[in-house]
Amino acid sequence: MGARLVLLGPPGAGKGTLAAWLSQQYGFTPMSTGELFRQQIRRRTALGRTVSEYVTSGRLVPDALVVKVMTSQLTRPLLQRGFVLDGFPRTTAQAEGLERFLVSRKAPLTGAIVLTSPVRVLLRRLSGRRVCGRCGAIYHVRNMPPKRSGICDRCQSPLIIRKDDQADTIRERLRINRAQAKPLVAYYRRRGLLHPLRADGSSQAMFDRAARLLKAHGWAAPRPARRARG
Ligand code: AMP
Repeated sequence: MGARLVLLGPPGAGKGTLAAWLSQQYGFTPMSTGELFRQQIRRRTALGRTVSEYVTSGRLVPDALVVKVMTSQLTRPLLQRGFVLDGFPRTTAQAEGLERFLVSRKAPLTGAIVLTSPVRVLLRRLSGRRVCGRCGAIYHVRNMPPKRSGICDRCQSPLIIRKDDQADTIRERLRINRAQAKPLVAYYRRRGLLHPLRADGSSQAMFDRAARLLKAHGWAAPRPARRARG
């Protein structure tokens, strides 16, 4: 059975990058609330219209709606295979909603990994972040540039700056996060589920720390490397 993990930490700490890596290495399904909302906004669905104003201004979508949307994605096969939640829960009310759901499915959370990073590193990362407007792949102008400037490696679509990565919105998101993070961290610490992980420095350094953490807790062995066909 795979691990059921929550990633906590401020915007720009690397939650999306770590979730993608955990998916590749261990087969846990990554689920990003922000990405799900942005996709719904792009597709102009009813949910997209409801959440659009919150997402573009960096304010939090109401708890009951977030819990409903996210738990409806957690199907039985996904609970078995393991998942990494990125950006959810963001409040203790959401954490309680998630816990109730997982306990009712007899698939409690394995751990909550909290990424830590100095504010100056977060600001640098967020202001240089570029995302693919079509497939959502994440780049950084200096740390993780695409092969062709401004173009997604995966689907060749133009890269954009997220509306909420504009300077004023970044500051607003970091302010909201500081206020929200403390009780959430305390919530998981009380349950003995909290695992801090340093996320400054390179992505690879963060991956190495994460691999050691997963190994130390016996949460899952990495997928065996594929043999070269010959
Ligand atoms: P993110 O990509 O995680 O930074 O999320 C982008 C935006 O989506 C946030 O600024 C919120 O407006 C919304 N959002 C994402 N996750 C949540 C959540 N768990 N609760 C409420 N709003 C959220």
